[in-house]
Amino acid sequence: MSRPILQTIQLVKVYRSGKVDIPALRGVDISIPRGAFVSIMGPSGCGKSTLLHLLGGLDRPTSGSVILDGHDLARCGDGERTRLRREKVGFVFQRFNLLPTLTVIGNMEVALAIGSNGTLPASRMHDLLDLVGLGEKKHRKPMELSVGEQQRVAIARALLHQPAILLADEPTGNLDSVNSNLVLGLLQDLNSRLNQTIVMITHNPEAAAMGHRIITMRDGMVVSGGAAASTDSTSPS
Ligand code: ADP
Repeated sequence: MSRPILQTIQLVKVYRSGKVDIPALRGVDISIPRGAFVSIMGPSGCGKSTLLHLLGGLDRPTSGSVILDGHDLARCGDGERTRLRREKVGFVFQRFNLLPTLTVIGNMEVALAIGSNGTLPASRMHDLLDLVGLGEKKHRKPMELSVGEQQRVAIARALLHQPAILLADEPTGNLDSVNSNLVLGLLQDLNSRLNQTIVMITHNPEAAAMGHRIITMRDGMVVSGGAAASTDSTSPS
C-alpha cells in the first residue's frame, strides 16, 4: 500500500491550565491514505478539535508524531511548520471567517496574496468559484449570500493552494439541513472528482456516513476506525 498522506504515531497532547494538566490526546494512531474522505466523531471534549489542529500543524503535540506527506510536523521548526501548513493544508471551520466588507472575489484575493507569493494564477480563483457553484455571485458580499453559499466560498478559499489535505471542523455546524446537504454534497464531489483528501469532524452521523470511514474517539483516544480500510479511497456506494 502507498505511503499515507497523513499519519499520527502515539500522538499525545496535554494542555496546561494554571497548575493543572489537561490530557486532550492520549496516544492517537491514525492513518489517512491519499484520496480518502474520513470523518471523526465522538462526544464533546474527547479531543477531536485538538487532533485536527495537530494534523494541520496549527499546534504542536506534547509527544508523538504527525507525518504529513512525509514531513514530521512535530520535529519541524515553527517556520517550516507554517510553510508546510500553507502549502499542504486547507482548513474549513464551522464559522466561515469571511471578511464582511469584501466581496467573494475580494476574500479570495486576500487569501491568494497571503499564501502564494504571487505564484498562483488569478484564474484559479475564478475556476474554484465556478467549481463550488458561485461563479455568478463573486461580486457579492458575504451578507448577500446564504449561509450555505458562504461556506462554499470558505471551501473554495481553502482549496486555493491545492492542499494535499482538507481539514474541516464541523463544516455544517451552522447550517440548516438543506444547506448542510449542499455543502456535504460538495465535499463528496471534491473527493470523488478531484481525489481531494478530506478529514471532517462532525457530530452528525448522516454527515459522517458520507465519507469512507469513521474514526470514533473517546477520552482522548481512538476507539475505532483509526487504521486505513481498503475502501478508504473509493466512493461510498
Ligand atoms: P472536542 O473537539 O472533541 O470537543 P477538544 O479537542 O476541544 O475536544 O478538547 C479536548 C480537551 O482539551 C477538553 O477537555 C478541553 O477542555 C481541553 N482543551 C482544549 N483546548 C484547550 C486549551 N487551549 N487549553 C486547555 N484545555 C483545552
